[in-house]
Amino acid sequence: MLKLKNIKKNYVTSNEVVKALKGINIEFRKSEFVAILGPSGCGKTTLLNIIGGLDKYTSGDLVIDDVSTKKYKDRDWDTYRNHRIGFVFQNYNLITHQSVLANVELALTLSGVDKKNRRKKAIQVLEKVGLKDQIHKKPNQLSGGQMQRVAIARALVNDPDIILADEPTGALDTKTSVQIMEILKDISKDKLIIMVTHNPDLAEKYATRIINLLDGEITNDTKPYNSKNDIKDGVDNNKKTSMSFLTAMNLSLNNLMTKKGRTLLTAFAGSIGIIGIALILALSNGVQEYINNVEEETLTSYPITIQEEAVEMTDLISSIKTDNNKTIHEDNKIYSNDVMSEMMSTMSSKVKSNNLEEFKKYIESDESNITDYTSAISYSYNLNIQIYKDSDSDVVQVNPNTVLDDCL
Ligand code: ADP
Ligand code: MG
Repeated sequence: MLKLKNIKKNYVTSNEVVKALKGINIEFRKSEFVAILGPSGCGKTTLLNIIGGLDKYTSGDLVIDDVSTKKYKDRDWDTYRNHRIGFVFQNYNLITHQSVLANVELALTLSGVDKKNRRKKAIQVLEKVGLKDQIHKKPNQLSGGQMQRVAIARALVNDPDIILADEPTGALDTKTSVQIMEILKDISKDKLIIMVTHNPDLAEKYATRIINLLDGEITNDTKPYNSKNDIKDGVDNNKKTSMSFLTAMNLSLNNLMTKKGRTLLTAFAGSIGIIGIALILALSNGVQEYINNVEEETLTSYPITIQEEAVEMTDLISSIKTDNNKTIHEDNKIYSNDVMSEMMSTMSSKVKSNNLEEFKKYIESDESNITDYTSAISYSYNLNIQIYKDSDSDVVQVNPNTVLDDCL
């Protein structure tokens, strides 16, 4: 099921390269209780993290169900971690602001199980580890042993094939450690348990196989395994990680509520930005309105003139153009271009006249509210008043003035 092939792991720090694992070869059975034993700093945690997909190996290969993980994408690792592996850590890694039940349920939310089943399964595993009466407590109201049992329940709830435990009894007294070991031993009947420890007594008593590690190398393996000499064990590996929208919303809301102060601060900071934008928009809107007002007031001093007759220039130009396009001339002859006369004729034909008499009637009637919008209306009539001046010797025409006529 799991096979490590010449796994090496180097940690590169600023001034040196730490060779944490120096070529590890192990193969695990489908169900056994393996204890990895070794002094502090020999690479036990590193090895466990690589097996669990929490860390990447530098070279070598981790073969899962006969498939190399060299080409695993992030999503493949996610699926592997969420469906195949359960983690138990020395410091429990529980979420302190969530209840015991919620902590266990949380591990199921990534598997796409609905809420009702989640609760049922969570209660079942909590019962299995002997915590049925504590499910509504918060982790900090429990003893160390109880917290580790919650962590084991959380690791089990997804029904993984492999449980990885990193010094699960490291922070517990001997009596509690024994209880935890009993639970793990019970689980190992149908699962692969890989437990890191530096307590040889516990390993000796409970594990079915002990692997000794020293300075990143295996020094001893009490029960090596080679699948080539054994029947293969097939496991469904096609489940995908998913979380329903509702669950995601619930989790987010829960998270927001537990961090009220931060949420408030973020909301406050966000609102400053929004207020800023609103301020700029309001300002630009006000200025635009002011410009419009000024434009309107300035333009009102220019009167609108409505004449009796008018020619529209665009009509004129377009008519000339289309006329020209139509004419086809015979070669080798001279033709006159009577563009001017054409223009004059179209000008006279395109003249449009307004019925000013009716218009005047209309604007003076009650029907039009034109007085609401105008400050003054003045009419000018096309009349040339004949004015004469009686001088001593002669009578001189003043309007229309004839002086210019004389010049010409
Ligand atoms: P163990 O769990 O057996 O105590 P670890 O696997 O944690 O040992 O560490 C093995 C070696 O790798 C140690 O020498 C440690 O200092 C080093 N190491 C572990 N993690 C890192 C890291 N992130 N960066 C650099 N060195 C590391
Ligand atoms: Mg460690």
